[in-house]
Amino acid sequence: MEHRFEYQGRPGRVVFGAGRRAELGAEAERLGLRRVLVVTTPGRADLAAETASTLGDRLAGLHPHAVMHVPAEVAARAVDRARELGADGCVAVGGGSAVGLGKIVARDTGVPLLAVPTTYAGSEATPIWGITEDGRKRTGHDPRVLPVTVVYDPELTLSMPVRLAAESGLNALAHAAETLYAPDVSPVTSLVAAGAARSLAAGLPRVLADPSSVPARAEVLQGAWLAGWCLASATMSLHHKLCHTLGGTFGLPHAPTHANVLAHVLAFNLPAAPVADAALREALGTDDVPGRVHALVAELGAARSLADLGLPADAVDRVVELATADPYANPRPVTPEGVRTILAAALVGAPPAGAAGPAGPDGAVRTSDRGRIA
Ligand code: NAD
Repeated sequence: MEHRFEYQGRPGRVVFGAGRRAELGAEAERLGLRRVLVVTTPGRADLAAETASTLGDRLAGLHPHAVMHVPAEVAARAVDRARELGADGCVAVGGGSAVGLGKIVARDTGVPLLAVPTTYAGSEATPIWGITEDGRKRTGHDPRVLPVTVVYDPELTLSMPVRLAAESGLNALAHAAETLYAPDVSPVTSLVAAGAARSLAAGLPRVLADPSSVPARAEVLQGAWLAGWCLASATMSLHHKLCHTLGGTFGLPHAPTHANVLAHVLAFNLPAAPVADAALREALGTDDVPGRVHALVAELGAARSLADLGLPADAVDRVVELATADPYANPRPVTPEGVRTILAAALVGAPPAGAAGPAGPDGAVRTSDRGRIA
């Protein structure tokens, strides 16, 4: 790596460990909060209520109405509830959908946000909010939406079935992988991304072997924390752009889509990103990173193809068009032909094959070389 980079640190307190959700009340006290609104998805309502009970009389109300991709009307209701209750803090308990709703409450009311994540999505580590209106998801950066405190308790992830854990964990692995070849990679982001990939790759098979193992769940959750940090600290590329299009325009579910597309994008990108490839090979303990990720999808029982997730074959042209409409950083030039090849394999769950065409500005590495490189 060239010795020239920028790195922007971010504030934030992390409390990590089995059973530590019991310390949420102490964390709220530390911040001087007296009236806290707790938001979650309907499916996590019981778990959120149990977690919220540690707030004691600091709990102002529980709002279990979060929905994926934060529909504007859902966000408006939560903001109104926070104002009605005179909330001076918000706690989001759940996956990216709950945290996403908490972020809008924090953005629109100015109260601090605390997060208690129950998936590996990583939203709790970023200052990025999202809201969906008229079928379009808008996103933005705002320092007020970055949780001031995150309590990671692996016991809260025990209820994730292996398939959900696998898809969410591979979603996290995608943050780490794209950080390793990001245009703004730095020594610290590379180290954290490699650590994230190691924890996720080691932990997920342990979760599969024993879903009730708290240490296994803790290993994956630790990887997810590091991966979320990566998401906030580096610019994401083709993989995230494609998944954003598939989720935003075609309504495909977030984590399963990431899990499914990752191997195919890595087969396309890694020949042009040898440093990232080497780091991922070391982290995953393999000579064939895309092949290993593809095998993990099958071993862990994640969704096998984009068709299974609901993408019609005739949508491919539109995805290609959207994913290549604006230029963005990627280790390999993003061409319609390349995206089409990725989607053709992902659509049917075929093994990742890479794609024809130039691998970098000099066009030196081609698909046929991948066998040697990976
Ligand atoms: P999610 O929060 O919608 O959770 C998926 C499902 O799993 C939900 O039904 C939820 O109730 C359930 N669930 C959550 N935790 C569980 C547990 N421990 N046990 C059993 N079931 C559980 O999905 P997600 O993948 O966590 O998050 C996806 C959303 O987060 C998307 O909208 C995505 O855009 C957003 N996101 C935003 C950022 C950001 O930086 N702004 C980052 C990552 C993801």
